[in-house]
Amino acid sequence: MSIKDNILYFDEQLRNTPCRLVAVTKTHPIETIQEAYNAGHRLFGENKVQELVDKRDKLPHDIAWHLIGHLQTNKVKQIAQFIDTIQSVDSLKLLVEINKRAEQFNRTLPVKCMLQISIADEETKYGMTTDEVEALLQSEEYRQMKYIQITGVMGIATNTENEQKLRGEFCYLRECFDHLKEKFFIANDDFKEISMGMTSDWKLALQEGSTMIRVGSGIFGSRNYNR
Ligand SMILES: *Cc1c(COP(=O)(O)O)cnc(C)c1O
Repeated sequence: MSIKDNILYFDEQLRNTPCRLVAVTKTHPIETIQEAYNAGHRLFGENKVQELVDKRDKLPHDIAWHLIGHLQTNKVKQIAQFIDTIQSVDSLKLLVEINKRAEQFNRTLPVKCMLQISIADEETKYGMTTDEVEALLQSEEYRQMKYIQITGVMGIATNTENEQKLRGEFCYLRECFDHLKEKFFIANDDFKEISMGMTSDWKLALQEGSTMIRVGSGIFGSRNYNR
């Protein structure tokens, strides 16, 4: 299937659901991404700052870019002017820096941020515990931020084919979302996103309440990291 066909396939699959597709473009060249753009897609994700900045420069500017990989504080300034959403916020320190840089750029729209929660058992994966998330949301620093809009939570599940395990992790993230919603965002309609599910497990994630699936190889084919 062509990239256009793949985009249309996901459009069809997600029709009448509250879930949207983040097309993950890492390692793929501009021409490939342009095909998805030409098929009407406008929501793209990258996991590295440098690659994101390079691609953003070369593609139309009505794309909503989501950063989905770990973000170091010293790189925030490179994306703070244009980024739509940072899905991988995993510390208060990082959020402070995003707010500061967004203010320096005098952004008219806040930076949408999602709180990454660790749901997998692999220690290498970034993300906060729910206790850390609560401490962040209760902090005076967070309350003072004017350039941040928290839109939801994000999680990366264990790399496994074990359906039971995946369901358990997705279910846990949804419960975290529900808890945070009730405790901190009950009257705030902006807090609505649960980003979970990738090429191999998006159907399960959707069943467990995902509002944003992040699909790379399922649209663009397998990745060649040596390109
Ligand atoms: C690469 C990546 C994806 C997409 O992975 P696929 O298996 O190619 O769909 C999703 N989320 C994150 C955080 C990623 O880094």
